[in-house]
Amino acid sequence: MNNRTYERVLLKLSGESLMGEDSFGINRSSIIRITDEITKVMSLGISLAIVIGGGNIFRGVAPGAQGMDRATADYMGMMATVMNALALKDALKYSGIDVRVQSALNIEQIVEPYIRPKALRYLDEGKLVIFAAGTGNPFFTTDTAAALRAAEIGAEVVIKATKVDGIYNTDPIKDVNAIRYSHISFDEAIVRQIAVMDATAFALCRDQKIPIKVFSINKANALLRVITGKDEGTLVHI
Ligand code: UDP
Repeated sequence: MNNRTYERVLLKLSGESLMGEDSFGINRSSIIRITDEITKVMSLGISLAIVIGGGNIFRGVAPGAQGMDRATADYMGMMATVMNALALKDALKYSGIDVRVQSALNIEQIVEPYIRPKALRYLDEGKLVIFAAGTGNPFFTTDTAAALRAAEIGAEVVIKATKVDGIYNTDPIKDVNAIRYSHISFDEAIVRQIAVMDATAFALCRDQKIPIKVFSINKANALLRVITGKDEGTLVHI
């Protein structure tokens, strides 16, 4: 489907990818491993933006949030993404990458607010931009934020890091004969009820004609292979 290097990419990293084998929180070795993978692609001169989730931190507070007003819990979830963004920025900076964090919620002492033209300028300057606090609205997810920001920055693709290295015809964990699709259309994904992203995010990508690539962030060099158009993961295309 594609064998060229992407020029502008939106990477969606879930909070879970930062927690490694821990039950919640940020695992140092996981964050360093992810940072190493990102460092490999930054040297290619592509413009990379990241939308980070918050599930790893929210898990730690979830029991206390039970029965809580949904919108309040969602604002807590958005703040969790800010924590992850700061941790990721710190690790990336340590690797010599020029990073900026922009937040959809205003917490100006900590991160700058999301300002689209500024984000575009940073990307044009070769800086990595991390978008924190999702869309800034409750009742949404960071997958939807990824689709939204991808459309806003003119990303060619949303690459979604998951634990599994793509979309399979059956569950690859239960079935050794499971076959990975190298590509699948949005329509097929709907018919086969493949939940690559939540419905809002999926619909936004489909409407804006932004393909989604699903790959494993835990596989060495997979991010590099995805960005350079190798047969890695699964592309959900128009
Ligand atoms: N969230 C929200 N609005 C957004 C993005 C996120 O309210 O636009 C909240 C929501 O509560 C969500 C949490 O932040 O559960 C963390 O985001 P998400 O679950 O998408 O993170 P991930 O699962 O990718 O770690």
